[in-house]
Amino acid sequence: QAKDAGRDGVAVFDPRLRSSAHERFELHGALRRAVSEGEITVAYQPVLALAGPADAGELGPGAVVGFEALARWHRPGHGDVSPAVFIPLAEDLGLIHALGDQVLRAACAAVRTWRDETGRPLTVAVNLSALQLAEAACVDRVVAALADTGLPADALQLEITESVLMSDVEHSTGQLAALRVLGLRVAIDDFGTGYSSLAYLRDLPIDILKIDQSFTRRLPGDGEMLDLIVRLARAIGATTVVEGVETREQLETVTRLGCDEAQGYYLSRPLGADAAAAYVHALRAAPRIG
Ligand code: C2E
Ligand code: MG
Ligand code: MG
Ligand code: MG
Repeated sequence: QAKDAGRDGVAVFDPRLRSSAHERFELHGALRRAVSEGEITVAYQPVLALAGPADAGELGPGAVVGFEALARWHRPGHGDVSPAVFIPLAEDLGLIHALGDQVLRAACAAVRTWRDETGRPLTVAVNLSALQLAEAACVDRVVAALADTGLPADALQLEITESVLMSDVEHSTGQLAALRVLGLRVAIDDFGTGYSSLAYLRDLPIDILKIDQSFTRRLPGDGEMLDLIVRLARAIGATTVVEGVETREQLETVTRLGCDEAQGYYLSRPLGADAAAAYVHALRAAPRIG
């Protein structure tokens, strides 16, 4: 872009602007290639049960119930790019449908395999962006991914952020209802950071509230809000998953407050596909209790 006219009336280009425009252009091309060549990978963060009778063994507190699938992009020559950067970019570039489909299919296939290998009813949570939910073909894509990978619908959860749901409640409600008919579960992601209307919340077909890590960060001291959200979830018939558990004290607090499930660095970081498979196999090797 030409900035202010220079001394002799000729537009002067700011080399920094030019290089950043150039870098952006390159980044866009690299993401297009990554999606078209299937270079987006999936990391899996374990989700643990907190609730249930203490003597329920591998199904009780501390048991791994499943994973959240998180998109990863290692850009050759540049290193890892955060999903906070490339997911919005994929939305802007119209790549999110292809990218989202790749993540969904990879996650369903992996968890189908791990279920077969361990005999455990592991679940997988996949993030869905606003544009994916808005797309008319959304339900068909999910049906196809389940059919092609053989994952039972009740093993799949779809996570949608609060702001997305609330931006067009009528359409969201229709899409969520159609997805739930398949037998999968729907979670509101980053709950508590958006602008949920309580009236809508009651009417939305929602199974799970994923409590945002900003609430976990305040623990163990300040648990009032988290306590309220757990009770709100119960009032609308939803279960809770708490995100961002980083310390033992936080884990104890969310357990005491009655959250159903938890994930966070204290329990496990997101694992690459191979590490996640090893994690799952270590579960199989672990002695069965009871
Ligand atoms: P999210 O869905 O809320 O995912 C949780 C994020 O918190 C992940 O970041 C995860 O690595 C991070 N996290 C997990 N445990 C902890 C913890 O104990 N402490 C802290 N500080 N962070 C923790 P990540 O992988 O960078 O993903 C960021 C966001 O990008 C996700 O937030 C999600 O909104 C989006 N995203 C990731 N993968 C996909 C995808 O396949 N599709 C779409 N549409 N969005 C995705
Ligand atoms: Mg999520
Ligand atoms: Mg979240
Ligand atoms: Mg988040």
